[in-house]
Amino acid sequence: MSEYNKYDVIIIGCGAAGMMAGITLADKGYKVIILEKNDKAGKKLFITGKGRCNLTNNCDDEQLFANIVTNPKFMYSAITNFNSGDTMEFFQELGLNLKTERGGRVFPASDHSSDVISVLTTKLKRLGVGVRYNSEVCDILVEDSDLGRKVTGITVKENEKTFDISCENVVVATGGLGYPRTGSTGDGIKWARELGLSVTEPKPALVPLEVAGVNCEELMGLSLKNIEVSFWTTVKGKQKIVYKEFGEMLFTHFGVSGPVILSASSHLHKYDGQNIELLIDLKPALSEKQLDDRVVRDFSENINKQFRNAIDSLLPRKLIPVIIERSGIDPYKKVNEITRQEREHFVHCIKKFNLTITQYRGFDEAIITQGGLSVKELNPKSMEVKKIKGLRYIGEVVDCDALTGGYNLQLAWSMAKILN
Ligand SMILES: Cc1cc2nc3c(=O)[nH]c(=O)nc-3n(C[C@H](O)[C@H](O)[C@H](O)COP(=O)(O)OP(=O)(O)OC[C@H]3O[C@@H](n4cnc5c(N)ncnc54)[C@H](O)[C@@H]3O)c2cc1C
Repeated sequence: MSEYNKYDVIIIGCGAAGMMAGITLADKGYKVIILEKNDKAGKKLFITGKGRCNLTNNCDDEQLFANIVTNPKFMYSAITNFNSGDTMEFFQELGLNLKTERGGRVFPASDHSSDVISVLTTKLKRLGVGVRYNSEVCDILVEDSDLGRKVTGITVKENEKTFDISCENVVVATGGLGYPRTGSTGDGIKWARELGLSVTEPKPALVPLEVAGVNCEELMGLSLKNIEVSFWTTVKGKQKIVYKEFGEMLFTHFGVSGPVILSASSHLHKYDGQNIELLIDLKPALSEKQLDDRVVRDFSENINKQFRNAIDSLLPRKLIPVIIERSGIDPYKKVNEITRQEREHFVHCIKKFNLTITQYRGFDEAIITQGGLSVKELNPKSMEVKKIKGLRYIGEVVDCDALTGGYNLQLAWSMAKILN
C-alpha cells in the first residue's frame, strides 16, 4: 500500500485526542494520516455532554489539577503547555462560539457536539491531514535491535484485506473501554500488553453503582437534590469515610447514579474488595437535633394524623414507605402516640440512609476508563513511550482520568497538544 508510505506520522483513532494530534503535528509541518475504524470521526465525542459536548472547564490550572483523579502530576507539562484557557481560545479561533455554564462547564454556544467535530475535521482537511475511515489497525510493528526498540509500522485491515504500512512514528489514540459501541474497545491497551509495556488494570469509572439494602424497583426514578453522600469502609479496623460529596443523585432499577455517585465511583476503586457502605444524609442542612426539633413541630401540628400521613412535607413521596419501614414505627400509629425513642430513630434513618455497594456497572455505562498504559512508560513532555522510539500514546488509553465537568476532554486535548 504505497499510498500510505508518504506519511511521517500515522495516528490511530479519529476521536478527540486523535483529531487534536493531527492538527498539532500537521501544524508543525509533518505529513499526517489518521486511521479510524468507524465510518466517521468522533463517535464518542458526538455523545459527550448529552450531545452538547462539555469540551473543557473554564477554570484555572489549580482547579484543573484538583479534578484529575489519577496521575495529575504526570499531566503537569501537558497542561502548562495547553490549559483550558488555551482550549477555549483554540476552538474560538476555529470559529466555534462557546458558552460557560454552571460549574465552569464549557459548551459550544449551539449546544451541538457535532459542531465541535465539524470544526476539527474542517481544520484537519485544511491542513491536508488524510483521514481513512473503515480502517482498523490490528497491530503495531516494533523492531528490536542493539540500538534499542523502535516502531516500524502497523498492520491494518481495510475491506477484509490485511496489510502492513511502514512508518517511523505512530500515535495511539484509541481511547479506553467505555461505551465500546463508539469504537473504543481497548485496542491500544491490548497492544501495550503485547509489547511488554506496563498497564494499569482498566476499570469502569464515572459509572453508576449497584446497591443492596433497598428495593431499587420501588425507588427507581427518584431524584434527590441537596443531599450529602458519604462512603464508608473499614481501614485498619476502623470505620472511615473514603469519599463525601454534596449534590444530586438518583435511584435506578439496579442502584444509584447521578453526579455525586459518578464522581464517587472514580474515587472508590482503591478500596476494591472491601465492603463499602453508602450513607445518604437526606437533610444535610440540619443537624440530627435540628431535624428532631422540626419533626416535633410537624407532629404537633398533625397531632391526630397517622404517622404515614404526617411526614409528606419532610420526604419525597417514594421514600416515605421505605423510611417508615426502616423506622420500625407502625405507619397507622397516631403521631401523638410515637415515643421519643421511636422519633429519634426515625430522624436517624433520614440522616443516615444506608445502603451497601455491591458492584460497579460495566464498561457499557462507564463515561471513562480508569487505568490503561502506565504513565511510567511515557515521557510526559512528548508522550513518547520511553522504551520504543517513535511510539506515542495519548488520550484516554493512558492511565490518567478526571471527574466530570469537561476535564476528561481537556486531558485528551492537552496530551495531543504536547506531541512534537
Ligand atoms: C456518554 C459519555 C459522555 C461524555 N461526556 C463528556 C463530556 O461532556 N466532557 C468530557 O470532558 N468528557 C466526556 N466524556 C469522556 C470523553 O468522551 C473521553 O474522555 C474522550 O472522548 C477520550 O478521547 P480519546 O480520543 O482518547 O478516545 P475516543 O474519543 O474514545 O476515540 C478513540 C477513537 O479511536 C478509534 N479506534 C479504536 N481502536 C481503533 C483501531 N484499532 N483502529 C482504528 N481506530 C480505532 C475509535 O473508533 C475512536 O473513534 C464522555 C464519555 C461518555 C462515554
